[in-house]
Amino acid sequence: MEENKKLAQLLFDNIDKTPEYYEELFPKRDLKEGAKVCRFSPSPTGFLHFGNLFTCFVSYSLAKSSNGVFYVRVEDTDQKRSVEGAIEVMLKGLSVYGIVPDEGVIGDREEKGSYGPYYQSDRKEIYQTFAKSLVEQGLAYPCFMTPEELEECRASQENESIKGIWGQYAKCREMSFDKIKERIDNGDSWTLRLKSPGTLDGKCYFDDMIKGKIEMPENVQDIVLLKSDGIPTYHFAHAIDDHLMRTTHVVRGDEWISSAPIHLQLFKVLGFRAPKYVHVAPIMKEENGGKRKLSKRKDPEAAVTYYIEQGYPSESVNEYMMTLANSNFEDWRRMNKDEALSKFPFNVKKMSVSGALFDIAKLSDVSKNVVSKMNAQKVFDLSYEWAKEYDNELASLYEKDTERTKAILNIDRENKKPRKDIAKWSDIKDYISYMFDETFEPCFELSGNANAALAVDVLKKYKDVVNLSDDKDTWFSRIKDLCAEVGCTPNVKEYKADPEAFRGHVGDVSTIIRVALTGRVNTPDLFSITALLGEEIVQKRIDMAIKHYEEVK
Ligand code: GLU
Repeated sequence: MEENKKLAQLLFDNIDKTPEYYEELFPKRDLKEGAKVCRFSPSPTGFLHFGNLFTCFVSYSLAKSSNGVFYVRVEDTDQKRSVEGAIEVMLKGLSVYGIVPDEGVIGDREEKGSYGPYYQSDRKEIYQTFAKSLVEQGLAYPCFMTPEELEECRASQENESIKGIWGQYAKCREMSFDKIKERIDNGDSWTLRLKSPGTLDGKCYFDDMIKGKIEMPENVQDIVLLKSDGIPTYHFAHAIDDHLMRTTHVVRGDEWISSAPIHLQLFKVLGFRAPKYVHVAPIMKEENGGKRKLSKRKDPEAAVTYYIEQGYPSESVNEYMMTLANSNFEDWRRMNKDEALSKFPFNVKKMSVSGALFDIAKLSDVSKNVVSKMNAQKVFDLSYEWAKEYDNELASLYEKDTERTKAILNIDRENKKPRKDIAKWSDIKDYISYMFDETFEPCFELSGNANAALAVDVLKKYKDVVNLSDDKDTWFSRIKDLCAEVGCTPNVKEYKADPEAFRGHVGDVSTIIRVALTGRVNTPDLFSITALLGEEIVQKRIDMAIKHYEEVK
């Protein structure tokens, strides 16, 4: 024992604190029964993968639905992967989706909360304090194996099922104090390794909240706790941080599940109570009849910036993430159309074990629904905000007459059955293009019984009767009256009973007018469109269409 103490002092003479000091500094949180403490702990790579956002969303929802705490910790121990400004980009990405940490890192080098520091690079002393204590107890040791020796070991283990430094490969495990001192005095570099108490027939059991009961072989590897620069590995930092920050539920990607035996062993060796694990499967994508992970390299929609640039409202992305997270969400939504998403009883246990399937068409449907429920002012505000950043042309169209723009966006909105045409703000320019001369693209293609000859007759008459001060009923009765004058019937049933007797019906007449005014056979309410286009444009477009149809009839 004395030897161990001496060794600990030799290795960590800079450390004068004890684990008890930190236990007291970061006491158990005073939270209501059942409140969960969850975290998001990104490495500062600057890239926010949709899968990371999803995992974070799950973590956040779990904390919030229990009135708990959600915090952000930055895992910046791998300096090679750190990218300047990355944290701000990531936090901004999260805040777009309403994920604002209660605690932890809230900006670049900015943090709040009393369980910090929340940048791992600022916690060196804490890790070393616990490392020192492990050495004192004979549970960790310095390892002087060189990269060449490690490589040799790797090569010789090619056909073995257990890899890494264990058993006979753990060359420095039993090194005497004198030998260690000699190597250190010699300036040899060392890492700190766990003296794993695992045995080959030992088992590790845990109950993952998504994956269920898991049994795996116990860890036998003397894994690295501190690298040669004194910086901890992910494993060691995870155990120390999630313990001292009093995380109750560790929500993370399921690529970590294979390391869980290491982590559970570390919690045990350190004398900590292990948190609950929630291992989230990656978001999958269908491809050639099979499934694969949503990929940063292959799929533009793997980047969270994609949704922002395309202008998917954050509400839509959140709704969509909930459909991915809990398959019963859609039923709940149908029954609770106007409830806030936060009212949904999110249940982590109902998450997919193998990975939810990403489907952009589904996101689009979800989003069309969300947008259809927004009022015109909200659609205007959000899409204008987006346009200022991503589509100057749309922003300038909006600015020509903002009240008119809002009225355009209000067509067939704010009623019981709003139209569902807009999934993302980048859909809007095309959707309303005919409302502005700058973006209107005439197209004279007709459908149904409408043809050029009928179009000339209809439009000539319509030009004379159209009156923008009419109310909707008067406007429509004028169109119906016009039908008889051009050999059509205002009554579709009558037409169907004897199609030979007519050139078409009121639907065909409306199509002709619609196409002349908008260049499309399908639009929202034509009366509102006509009114908002204004006398001058209406007359101009009718003239243009008459000219076209006269030439081709
Ligand atoms: N920094 C780790 C990663 O980015 C986090 C894993 C965890 O949540 O524990 O994969």
